[in-house]
Amino acid sequence: MTTRIALAAGDGIGPEIMDATLAVFRAAGVLEHLEFVPVEMGRSVFEKGDTRGMTDAAIATVESCGVLFKGPMETPKGGGGKSINVTARKIWNAFANLRTFRTLPGVITPFSKAGIPIDLVIVRENIEDTYGGVEHRLSNDMIQCKRLISAPGSDQVVRFALRTAQRLGIRQVHCGHKANIMKMTDGIFLERFRQAAKDFPDIECGDVIVDALCMNLVMKPQSYRMVVLPNLQGDIVSDLCAGLVGGLGFAPSANIGTHISIFEAVHGTAPDIAGKGIANPAALLLSGVMMLRHLGLVRDAVLIENALLRCLEDGVHTGDFGDKTKPSVGTTEFAKGIADRLGQLPQTVPAAPLPEAGTGERVTFKVHPKPLHQEVIRTFTNAVTHVVGCDVYLDTPLSTSSVAEELQRICHDTPFRLTLISNRGTQVWPTGSAFTECVDYWRARFELRDGVIPGTFGQSRAIALLDRVAEKFTVCSYELLRTFDGVRGFSLAQGQ
Ligand code: NAD
Repeated sequence: MTTRIALAAGDGIGPEIMDATLAVFRAAGVLEHLEFVPVEMGRSVFEKGDTRGMTDAAIATVESCGVLFKGPMETPKGGGGKSINVTARKIWNAFANLRTFRTLPGVITPFSKAGIPIDLVIVRENIEDTYGGVEHRLSNDMIQCKRLISAPGSDQVVRFALRTAQRLGIRQVHCGHKANIMKMTDGIFLERFRQAAKDFPDIECGDVIVDALCMNLVMKPQSYRMVVLPNLQGDIVSDLCAGLVGGLGFAPSANIGTHISIFEAVHGTAPDIAGKGIANPAALLLSGVMMLRHLGLVRDAVLIENALLRCLEDGVHTGDFGDKTKPSVGTTEFAKGIADRLGQLPQTVPAAPLPEAGTGERVTFKVHPKPLHQEVIRTFTNAVTHVVGCDVYLDTPLSTSSVAEELQRICHDTPFRLTLISNRGTQVWPTGSAFTECVDYWRARFELRDGVIPGTFGQSRAIALLDRVAEKFTVCSYELLRTFDGVRGFSLAQGQ
């Protein structure tokens, strides 16, 4: 019985590198276990006017296979076309982006020259954070992007990272974050990591602030084995790591979800070299190797990985890397070079280890049944929450003291009092610095008056206050202030 994999060759160099990858798979005997089902995605679909970049039939095939192996795809410039990669990750909830970075023989980098080996894994949260793309223009001058980080979204990705570390025999995992500044969003990500770490006592778990992480990665990349990060930070850090090991030509990636996973190279369609037969297929092949591991075909993955390492070690290279004094080969010859070395081991770097005898030889992957409806994932369910105030954001030409006077008049007969006005997160009233420059987007914070017991009324009183403010001011946006089990669910202003 074969396992079905949805296959989209992609645009530009996609078909060339996909052919090369499948040639290596064929030579390794992998195609005995797998049936690749072609799906229509990318440029041809955009050109027919479908802004999703994938046909209904392609979506149905991917959903029935549970695995998509894809080449790079062009994102149309302008028009309504969205990046297929982002759409695919989001609609199919591929919540973890897994990328591996290893020193490769024949790929010359400052670290390879210095004899410093790199072998690390980055796990990036793939759905949330600023990538929700929830953006608004709030005033003439202010644009907002909402950074959404949830407890269950964090749980999914940090637990995936720790399980993967366990599977790969990685004994040390760090959580990268900026919780010193974004105490609530990065704070929940870090807190969920620490909570999950308790279930993995064999793994040494630590955390690192993302800016320090970047410096450390550049200075001593061998200090890390796996780092898990929120989406935007993970995006940046993973490309930094690609640079450490030789660039995009060797950067594979897996987007893992509960039901559907997507395997693809990180690089794009390389329009400048498309059709010339000179593209480097290594990143796509390595993505394919990650896919084989995901499917349970670990022996095949090891066979191919070691052949690639041996081929690189022997100095076979495409034009984008390697020893420039030796002639480069084309995409097909490079694939043949790998296929010819199947069964050989690298001599100068550690070979990929074989799994225990009797394991890793058959597909263990199971397609999950299609969910009947969109599932709600939850971490905290029983927190007791009370509304204790609201933040009303205003665009006003008045001075801070005049705004404060008017707002105090507005709320004088409500359960709320004006406690602060801030601008770009910095308190400017009741106290503030004359040096603080302000823009046209003010926050007025109203909190319960002393003596009013939280929970004695619902949220409608706080929303009614918004109505009153809106009669006098231009309101840009609004947030309720809540406590959860008595703990403040909102940050304080700088200077408060
Ligand atoms: P790119 O990665 O396509 O190219 C950047 C440079 O790297 C080019 O000089 C290219 O020749 C070289 N390069 C990339 N892959 C190579 C390979 N395998 N072998 C040899 N050289 C390689 O990035 P770009 O030019 O910014 O983007 C081109 C198109 O690709 C755009 O339409 C973009 O939207 C799309 N894109 C798709 C994906 C994806 O599908 N995963 C990712 C990134 C960009």
